[in-house]
Amino acid sequence: MEIVKANRIKNLPPYLFAAIDKMREEAARKGMDIINLSIGDPDLPTPAPIIERLKQAAAEARNHRYPTYEGMIEFRTEVVRWYKKRFGVQLDPEQEVVTLIGSKEGIAHIPLAFVNPGDLVLVPDPGYPVYNVATRFAGGEPYFMPLRKENAFLPDFSAIPESALKKARLMFLNYPNNPTSACAERACMEEAVKLASKYEIILCHDAAYTEVCFDGYKPMSILEVNGAKGLAIEFHSLSKTYNMTGWRIGFAVGNASVVSGLGQVKTNVDSGAFQAVQIAGIEALQGDQSHVEEMRRTYQERRDILVDGLKRMGLEVEKPKATFYLWVRVPHGYTSSDFSVHLLAKAGIVTTPGNGFGSQGEGYIRFALTVGKERLFEAVERMSRVGW
Ligand SMILES: *Cc1c(COP(=O)(O)O)cnc(C)c1O
Repeated sequence: MEIVKANRIKNLPPYLFAAIDKMREEAARKGMDIINLSIGDPDLPTPAPIIERLKQAAAEARNHRYPTYEGMIEFRTEVVRWYKKRFGVQLDPEQEVVTLIGSKEGIAHIPLAFVNPGDLVLVPDPGYPVYNVATRFAGGEPYFMPLRKENAFLPDFSAIPESALKKARLMFLNYPNNPTSACAERACMEEAVKLASKYEIILCHDAAYTEVCFDGYKPMSILEVNGAKGLAIEFHSLSKTYNMTGWRIGFAVGNASVVSGLGQVKTNVDSGAFQAVQIAGIEALQGDQSHVEEMRRTYQERRDILVDGLKRMGLEVEKPKATFYLWVRVPHGYTSSDFSVHLLAKAGIVTTPGNGFGSQGEGYIRFALTVGKERLFEAVERMSRVGW
């Protein structure tokens, strides 16, 4: 028989990185030395105490059974402590926190809890592709909010038509931002909360990069805004903070009814995160945080090497205050894809074309700082040699 996929899969946006992937494989096969600056996954190992804690917890039989979908109360209580210390916001561990199997899991599931077919979801463009895809999976329609350089890569809320605001159930925001590495100050968060409150929109803030920050800058939580707890949920991840992307552990916090709606999806879809991983997660949050400081110093040094190098070549790029990405304007006469292909073909450097994150990403490429500094020096050297 012919195997036919469902429309929701058939209608997925085209995978824009396929051409680059193919070229990269080809170049590697020919023996070209590839510097891969396209990976949003830390190259550094998980700190040793977290691994040790996992080993112990994995050996305990009580952790071998089904976890609860909402997560261990010990993990949620530790999240509350960490949150209070980090953002000064008090949470209720019973009702305002849920453990996630990585924050992507929660982001992908939340539209199933709150979006009916035909409802709108406000989605940043460029943005993490999951917001758009998860919206469509739930039968919703994304309404794209352009993030433009003129507006510091923040949404221009005043440009969203009232008709869209009235039909919107959710709004996704993500600061510090992937892919633009922009940060949002309090005024932007307050405006978002005010707008969401006026139009009864649930605010979904993706906070995966709040701890990957430089020069003493401390990104804020949306829950620091007065009234946010009435309508917001914030997604956090241990992935980037503790180099734990493969472990699949994160959490969502915020409005109790929103958290409970997400929980209802989860009880019916998954059975929670492995308890040993949650116990290791407790170790991550409450243990010695000097690893986090070291992670910041490492990326900050890499950021400076690459930004300085790109600027010397005349490329337009800002020094980001957070995230391990650089969002770089492509030179005149190139599209995102052209420039990505050029860097790969001529210099063996893999980058991500900005249009893969949405149409507003056209004209940019994203560099990830997930390789060591020697390789970054090498990348700068090669790029200045080949030019464009
Ligand atoms: C990495 C990333 C996540 C997801 O991380 P998890 O490993 O699923 O916790 C979420 N949002 C953005 C913007 C990311 O870059």
